[in-house]
Amino acid sequence: MTAKPILARRQRRRNPERSDRKRHAGVASEFRALIDDAVQGIIVHSNFKPLYANKAFAELFGYANAQEIMNLPLLRALVPDDVWPRLEIEYGEMMRGTKKSVIGRSRAVRKDGQEIWVAVTLRVIDWQGAPAMMLTAFDITRQVELEYNLLRNEQKLRAILEILPYPIYVARRSDGQILFVNRKSCLLFQQSAAQFLRIKSTDLYVDPADKENLDRLFAKLSDIRDIEARMKTAHGRVFVAELAAITLEYNNAPAVLIALNDISQRKEMEAELFRQASTDSLTGISNRRYFQNIAEQELRRARRFARDMTAMMIDIDNFKPINDTYGHAAGDTIIQGVVKRAIESLRQSDSIGRIGGEEFAVVLPETPLAAAYDVADRLRAHIEEKPIVSGLNAVSCTVSIGIAQLSAQDGGIDDLLARADAALYLAKNHGRNRVEMAIPPMEYKNRK
Ligand code: GH3
Ligand code: MG
Ligand code: MG
Repeated sequence: MTAKPILARRQRRRNPERSDRKRHAGVASEFRALIDDAVQGIIVHSNFKPLYANKAFAELFGYANAQEIMNLPLLRALVPDDVWPRLEIEYGEMMRGTKKSVIGRSRAVRKDGQEIWVAVTLRVIDWQGAPAMMLTAFDITRQVELEYNLLRNEQKLRAILEILPYPIYVARRSDGQILFVNRKSCLLFQQSAAQFLRIKSTDLYVDPADKENLDRLFAKLSDIRDIEARMKTAHGRVFVAELAAITLEYNNAPAVLIALNDISQRKEMEAELFRQASTDSLTGISNRRYFQNIAEQELRRARRFARDMTAMMIDIDNFKPINDTYGHAAGDTIIQGVVKRAIESLRQSDSIGRIGGEEFAVVLPETPLAAAYDVADRLRAHIEEKPIVSGLNAVSCTVSIGIAQLSAQDGGIDDLLARADAALYLAKNHGRNRVEMAIPPMEYKNRK
């Protein structure tokens, strides 16, 4: 009684296995239909003898149908001569199991002899009980052509950059690796292209902050102009560079193209022109115009930070007789001597200018009237102290000084200097070689 049910159970168990196989056969035929109609070309071969091909494969290679492919004795006709040896090697490796699968691209030959590019995958499969090679392929000819065009464009770009009369280099954005330099860059930085390609763009800057600043700008802009940075050559010569830069793709990586110009000479010339336009040639201190600029700036700063500021007017006493006695050249030397002693009596932060023949003005930032009086009297005493030597002559000379403290009533620097000038007039009237303080601006206005 007990044996029968067991047998029945076994039979029941065997029956589902049979239906499983049937189902597998169903899946296989569905699968076969699927690959027959796949858009990718699929072929199975054993040692390059075709075992199976789908419609897409036949189409890809310009054959009427899959059967025409199947009729080929070997797939050799589909492969360019120079590619064939590699395919054979690959086939051997994969059959031996050294290589599991291959994904790649290759040239191939259509029935009409035209060459195409295909993306291929290779995989060893079991084909009716024996190992065979399954290859899938699709056409990437257009894509490869585009890539070649891009490459050609890049070569063109390189040729153009090479002949430009400016130093130009291209650096990778991720790490600053130099990817391209033109001949002018090699000349400017005094190193060969080969050396260049081993360094990072940071190595070209004197101050790494200059490059970081550039990188920060690139986070916002793709086109940068008129940036100045100090750069250095391989031999250590430092120069000021004016940079223009754009972001671009280079060798498939985000990069920057930098065009630069050594503007050291121009900067020096500009500085020299500025020096000439702003300084007095006899004494080397600021001329009237530039002094006025500086004084105006100091006034604005004093007002913004509510600080004291005092101005000083200095005039050499009885200079006409000095000129008459010792000559104009000696007079010049005296003027220079007076300026030298004045500077010795002032702080670094004070500014002095020559505003007339033998008249000078000073602004003393952060200085109230009483303190300025001490400075002025020290200056006066320092000039009186000992004669100024000019050639064989030692000339005693003195100065008169008027000082005025900046007040809310002063409209601008001219008002302040006018009050200091009035105090100077007072010093002259009171006998010279002395310092006088300006009367407060209210009274000054009333008296005017
Ligand atoms: P005071 O004490 O009133 O100032 O008398 P002063 O003789 O100095 O009179 P004033 O300041 O008016 O005279 C300035 C003179 O300085 C007139 C001019 O001949 C002379 N002078 C102006 N510029 C120069 C200069 O660049 N070189 C020389 N050697 N003399 C100059
Ligand atoms: Mg004078
Ligand atoms: Mg004068």
